[in-house]
Amino acid sequence: MKPVITPRFVPSCTKTLLGELGKLVQAYDVHMQTHCSESDWARDYAIQHFGKSDIEIYAESGLLNNKSVLAHSIFLTERDVAMMKEFDAGIGHCPLSNMYFANAAMHTRELLDSGVNIGLGSDIAGAPSPSIFRAAFDAVSHSRVREEGVDTVCLRERAVLLAPGSASWKHSGWQPPVVVVF
Ligand SMILES: [Zn+2]
Repeated sequence: MKPVITPRFVPSCTKTLLGELGKLVQAYDVHMQTHCSESDWARDYAIQHFGKSDIEIYAESGLLNNKSVLAHSIFLTERDVAMMKEFDAGIGHCPLSNMYFANAAMHTRELLDSGVNIGLGSDIAGAPSPSIFRAAFDAVSHSRVREEGVDTVCLRERAVLLAPGSASWKHSGWQPPVVVVF
């Protein structure tokens, strides 16, 4: 069991709160999880109120490091992606929740190819099942929504997304309960 600093997301936090939580992350070298660009509304809120994307706000608040898990993260700019790689943070990919709440599909294929750490999350508050296996199947369906004209994530890559050490969980010490063998 590990403590995790968990600000909900930029729209529900003041910059002071984020900064103070960032101090805790730095002081105790603990994990941090939050939502990042989970919807166009949330992303636009950060830009309209702070003139920056939410990942930039997390970075300047001291919240980003290689133990950070940024849920959703489906509206990242190239600059956001570069920042995520710079800090070696990871994405908590919650495919079904993304489709329900963002009406959008993450560029999973492109992000995997660019070397961003990605692990699966069930987003139990925003999706109907806590099963990580369900999330694995949904990740493939989610990716195939974008199939026309793009490369998608294939069934075999469910194992990549679930396997310890290959995903954003590699720095976290969190491991999925089982590894799927095909
Ligand atoms: Zn969520």
